[in-house]
Amino acid sequence: MNDARTLFLGEDNAWIFLLECALRTGLMFLFALVLMKMTGKKEVRQFSVLELIVIIGLGSALGDPMIYTDAPLLPSVVAIAMVLLCYWGLNKWTNRAPRLEAFIEGEVTRVLHNGVVDLVALDKEGMSAAEFFGDLRVLHVEHLGQVKSAYVEIDGEVSVFFHADEEVRPGLPLAPEALAEEVPFAVMGDSPGCCARCGSPIQDSKADGLCPQCGHDGWVKAASFKRVA
Ligand SMILES: [Zn+2]
Repeated sequence: MNDARTLFLGEDNAWIFLLECALRTGLMFLFALVLMKMTGKKEVRQFSVLELIVIIGLGSALGDPMIYTDAPLLPSVVAIAMVLLCYWGLNKWTNRAPRLEAFIEGEVTRVLHNGVVDLVALDKEGMSAAEFFGDLRVLHVEHLGQVKSAYVEIDGEVSVFFHADEEVRPGLPLAPEALAEEVPFAVMGDSPGCCARCGSPIQDSKADGLCPQCGHDGWVKAASFKRVA
């Protein structure tokens, strides 16, 4: 009898400990939610924020009693039930409250419009320009002039709307070797170019040669070829 109690509840625990477990799990769930909100979307790719918390929570709640002799079963069962209850409850709630859903799961963000990167929006998504350019290369974007707009989706994936061929304009080339040829305004002169950081056209630059969008002084030759189907 005593052995069974140790197995299910733990040697030194009273039954009230199970209630404490439910409370602990609820608090840790909330803590995990705050933690997830503080990291960018990049970190939670493929999963929604809630799904990821469930996976992490269930992982340790299920795993610990399997291998630790001093981890009794019932607190884990309570924790698992509580994780699923929080998930189910928050899911129901967010389905009815779009603003809460937007807060927890995030929103789709436009990070590029008409060939110029919105560095502020990108930064809010926790994504660097280099990462973003890498994602665009995966989507076969050769230069930013080919892109009408780009978005960071809720799961952190980048999606793109392309310009029709006849609307492709000169834009920032995304090949790393082209980006590496960044030079200051004084060297570029008036030749067609783009800000190496955000893609703004050089002809919009101020008298001091700084990018009007991001204040950067590093320019590369614009590319203007059409997309290869
Ligand atoms: Zn710029």
